[in-house]
Amino acid sequence: MACAVLIVAAGRGTRAGGAVPKQYHRLGGESVLRRTLLRFAECAAVDVIQVVTHPDDAPLYEQAVAGLTKVLPQVAGGATRQQSVRAGLEALAAYGPERVLVQDGARPFTPPEVIARAIAALDENTAAIPVLPVTDTIKQVDAAGHVTGTVDRAMLRAVQTPQAFRFAELLAAHRAAADARVADLTDDASVMEWAGHTVATFAGDSENVKLTSAEDLARAARMLADLPDVRTGTGFDVHAFGPGDHVMLGGVAIPFDRGLDGHSDADVGLHALTDAVLGALADGDIGAHFPPSDPQWKGATSDRFLAFAIERVRERGGIVAHLDLTLICEAPKVGPHRDAIRAEIARICDLPLGRVSVKATTTEKLGFTGRREGIAAMASATIRLPLEIGA
Ligand code: MG
Repeated sequence: MACAVLIVAAGRGTRAGGAVPKQYHRLGGESVLRRTLLRFAECAAVDVIQVVTHPDDAPLYEQAVAGLTKVLPQVAGGATRQQSVRAGLEALAAYGPERVLVQDGARPFTPPEVIARAIAALDENTAAIPVLPVTDTIKQVDAAGHVTGTVDRAMLRAVQTPQAFRFAELLAAHRAAADARVADLTDDASVMEWAGHTVATFAGDSENVKLTSAEDLARAARMLADLPDVRTGTGFDVHAFGPGDHVMLGGVAIPFDRGLDGHSDADVGLHALTDAVLGALADGDIGAHFPPSDPQWKGATSDRFLAFAIERVRERGGIVAHLDLTLICEAPKVGPHRDAIRAEIARICDLPLGRVSVKATTTEKLGFTGRREGIAAMASATIRLPLEIGA
């Protein structure tokens, strides 16, 4: 087995207050722990996930893991974080993973890129942790709160999870620390440092926050609920007529005495919409994600391009507020197919019909569309994203 994830969720979360430990607080309809689990369950490089829990939380835990794959039977944690991690590692030993990522249960926004960097860091290192530079000035103070000095922050880093380790070495270090009755190590990097291993660092992410206080939970809930980051993108595409007996427009096959030339199915409408959505995300264009030079997209139906772009919005916790497509041609007549196209785009994007607009126009016989040489399409997409923490 290549990679296991150990999620520490046995804490009582007293600093956040409330009726349940913070990892079971609900954010946007799902518990913090479930959101954390999903980040790893969706990662193809992760084989199994071991969660360390508190026995009192069994019903909450069952809700958090319902329907998830890769999750092993839970293990009861100990009195300290160090003991809880040790318990999880001992349970994972039966599976013999090569690598293990240790993650806080209350860190639900870990970007996929950070998980990928954690796993990759173990190609060269025994231990590696995600860090951020410290940007605030750091002062030392005395018991009265008076400043006694300024710390040079150039050499300081704030540490996140997932922390990444070669499994055998981390388990051995934890066992040695327990045997030596060293019990005050607050993270797993500290256990490895204590055991004499070098701990490398890689880039964390400002979004990858740990929810500790009631304020953190409230801010996260607002972020998920408000989606205040409203963005608009535009897309434009043209395909020329060629031999054929139909054209694909907005996912609908329209009988015609010509076809549209193109590497994929040449669906000019879906291409313009895909670029509009990617534009709103500032995430490149259709050609960057699906290069025409790549033979696997030859003849591909374009609904997958648009569905991919929409999924990129949802992966970022966002929603698509509105799509607007204008098809520009003299022929075929779009009007009779307008409702079918609209319904198909709504289906592809899993959107209500009221958020999808399709219009058609001619160019009064002017220009290439007027000369019936091809079809043009323009589109706009309005999306709403969570405000990134720190942005
Ligand atoms: Mg195109």
